[in-house]
Amino acid sequence: MDYYAEPIAMLIEELSKLPGIGKKTAQRLAYHILNVSNMEAMSLANAIVNAKRNIKYCSICNNLTQKDPCNICSDAKRDKSTICVVEGPKDVVAMEKTREYRGLYHVLHGSISPMDGIGPEEIKIKELLVRLQDDTVKELILATNPTIEGEATAMYISRLLKPTGIKMTRIAYGIPVGGDLEYADEVTLSKALHGRREI
Ligand SMILES: [Zn+2]
Repeated sequence: MDYYAEPIAMLIEELSKLPGIGKKTAQRLAYHILNVSNMEAMSLANAIVNAKRNIKYCSICNNLTQKDPCNICSDAKRDKSTICVVEGPKDVVAMEKTREYRGLYHVLHGSISPMDGIGPEEIKIKELLVRLQDDTVKELILATNPTIEGEATAMYISRLLKPTGIKMTRIAYGIPVGGDLEYADEVTLSKALHGRREI
């Protein structure tokens, strides 16, 4: 890093912390940023600050949102009797792209992973239970990723909620095992939604 002026070294360092950005790409991006106009560079910096400052968790579904409750939770046309439980905000986007699903969501912000010290307490399961206290919700679609952690999470929730008698389904069909929901294309995801089975 000694060959760079310190501010450049710092920029490369910060950029290389981003997922999927290696040192080489970080260097390329840093030089690109230094090359663009002040206005363009400031607008990038401002977009980061603005997103960090104005995006929060929806107090109902925990999705990322600017206003609380989020657009989906406050949409009167959505079916309030179904909640689709997903691991992350990107999964909500993936499901929305199918244009097939008209219910609500619950974002867990992770999955149960004992290996990484992540238990049920570390993800938003308590918040899900709160939402099931009145009789509005009739079905939970457990759409966690088909990974070991995602399966464990779906299993945990289904066992926990068995006594409530709420119908629980698991999407399965079409999603490759070990795959990530956010990378599944719309057709695959839409098939997975239709092929959900009760657990
Ligand atoms: Zn919401």
